[in-house]
Amino acid sequence: MARYRESVCRQCRREGAKLFLKGDRCYTEKCAYDRRAYAPGQHGQRRMKFTEYATQLREKQKVRRIYGLLEKQFRSYFAKADRQKGVTGENLLILVERRLDNTVYRMGFTNTRAEARQLVAHGHFLINGKRVDIPSFQVSVNDVVEVCEKSRKLNRISEALASAGRRSLPQYIEIDKEKGRGVLKALPKREDISSTINEQLIVEFYSR
Ligand code: SF4
Repeated sequence: MARYRESVCRQCRREGAKLFLKGDRCYTEKCAYDRRAYAPGQHGQRRMKFTEYATQLREKQKVRRIYGLLEKQFRSYFAKADRQKGVTGENLLILVERRLDNTVYRMGFTNTRAEARQLVAHGHFLINGKRVDIPSFQVSVNDVVEVCEKSRKLNRISEALASAGRRSLPQYIEIDKEKGRGVLKALPKREDISSTINEQLIVEFYSR
C-alpha cells in the first residue's frame, strides 16, 4: 500500500498545528513545530493569505494526516459518512475514530497511530479473541481489543502504556493495563474528538 515517506514533522508545520505524529518526541523541546512554527520550504516564512478553498483544503489535509490516511481512503470515508443519517462531518470523524489502529492508539497500546497501524498489520491484536490484522477494521460497541499473549512482552507496548497517561483516555473507552485489553463502551461522540478540528470545512471541501 502507498505510504507517506517524507518527514512527518513537515506535516505539522504545513498544517500550522501540532498533530502529535511522533509520540514521545512531540512532548519534548525537540518538536520541530515548537522550534519552527512556520510552513516548510523556501517560502515557508512568507505571510500567506488563505482563500476559502485553501482553508477547506488545509482542514481536510490536517484530519487526513492526523489519522494517517491517504486521499482515496479518506474520500471513501466521506462518501460513507454522507450516506449515513445525521451530520456528515460528525459521521466522518466517528468513522475514522472507530478504526482499529486509532482505537489501539487511543487505548494507549502505542505512542502513535502509525505505530498502531504497523502492530495491527503484524497481527499483535485480537478482537473478541480473534486475530485481526486490518488497521481499517471498524471497532463496534462492546468489542474487546486485546494484545496477543505473546506480544504483551513487547517493549514498545509496555513503554507506550507507561507513557499513555499524558494523553487523556476518551470516555468511550475502558482499559485494563494489567491484562493488556480495552473495551469500546460506546460509540465515540463528537466531544471525544479533538475540538480543534472544524469538520464542516471538510464537508464544504468535498461538496464543492
Ligand atoms: Fe509534529 Fe512536533 Fe510531533 Fe514532529 S515532534 S510530529 S512537529 S508535534
